[in-house]
Amino acid sequence: MAYAYDPTNIFARILRGEIPNNTVLETEHTLAFRDIAPQAPDHVLVIPKGPYATFDHFSNEASDAEILDFYRTAGQVCKMLGIEPGEGGMGFRAITNSGEHGVQDVPHFHMHILAGRVLGRMLS
Ligand code: 5GP
Repeated sequence: MAYAYDPTNIFARILRGEIPNNTVLETEHTLAFRDIAPQAPDHVLVIPKGPYATFDHFSNEASDAEILDFYRTAGQVCKMLGIEPGEGGMGFRAITNSGEHGVQDVPHFHMHILAGRVLGRMLS
């Protein structure tokens, strides 16, 4: 099975309320919360509430409403943090790790939003 989803992963447990989180924004289909081990002054994780393990799983299988809500929520988080480069903020990095070579630790699709410092080049 290409997209086996493990419902015991840590983000699934956060979504079920079994583990606390520092929520930044919650919508019908999406949750944004602060990373427990921040790599920058602002480090927010944006996750869909649905059971999608990877970027490709989410992109291929989620409904239009879920995908729209996910990206709108990520955009709202950027507004809330005041990091949008066109709006007077200093910019940010949005990244997704997918699978083994992407070094994805938590098998629930998520986007990292990192901001608050110069992040350096990262294409190695
Ligand atoms: P990945 O390597 O899968 O792209 O990133 C997983 C991220 O989840 C890491 O940045 C890690 O610090 C974060 N993380 C792991 N466990 C928890 C947790 O229990 N709570 C929160 N808020 N973040 C977590």
